[in-house]
Amino acid sequence: MSQKRLLLMNLCILIIATVAFSLTVIFAHTPDVEDGFCIIPQEESHIHFYWAYSLINDDNPLPADYLPELEVIDFTNSREFYLDSRAAPYATAMLAAAESDGVALRVVSAFRSQQRQLENFNNYVERLINEHGISVEEATILTASQIAQPGASEHNAGVAVDILNADWFLYNNDVTEEFERTPEFRWLAENSWKYGFILRYPQGKEEVTGFIYEPWHFRYVGIDVAEQIKNSGLTLEEYIDLYPPIQQFQFKRIR
Ligand SMILES: [Zn+2]
Repeated sequence: MSQKRLLLMNLCILIIATVAFSLTVIFAHTPDVEDGFCIIPQEESHIHFYWAYSLINDDNPLPADYLPELEVIDFTNSREFYLDSRAAPYATAMLAAAESDGVALRVVSAFRSQQRQLENFNNYVERLINEHGISVEEATILTASQIAQPGASEHNAGVAVDILNADWFLYNNDVTEEFERTPEFRWLAENSWKYGFILRYPQGKEEVTGFIYEPWHFRYVGIDVAEQIKNSGLTLEEYIDLYPPIQQFQFKRIR
């Protein structure tokens, strides 16, 4: 074999090896998705131990005296909002990133105590009774379809944040689905996973989540899980069903 040919062959082998290595690196960080289901490689199963990898709903309520350690979301806003101190820095980073992309967001709700949740619930029951003249039982059932019971809201654990665009209330009286038409929502839907937050109650999954479509409600689950959920198109319920957490209940810390 001539010197030139040998050199050319070596060069080819080098190029093939480089391409193969690059592809391995790229795909090692991309979850496999088959038929909408995300396959987690074994070595990533550490997420099953992650503190925020857990459901909070009517079937999985928080202990009545659960109170997370709170930290303020450090962002210019009209009021102070708090999240679990382990999630707050990620919300702060997300809001700052949006701002530097020219996207003006506004937090409208974050941590809410279980006492406050109870007051919200009872106020809504009362409002329905007064406005529609229905019984307490009927009003309670209707309210339960709109507002989580105390302990059954992700806001009570300080892991959920409701976000709108900064001037939403200049043009709207209430929080509505219309928020999904805004560039601010599109930014959140595209980028929130990078900060560990997922769109928790997506459209078309109401039967699975038990909640109406809430384009403003973002739930902290950690970056790894958030990325996998975004890529798979699954809800947290469906994802946890496929990959159950090692410890069933993570929100046990009581002060
Ligand atoms: Zn919410």
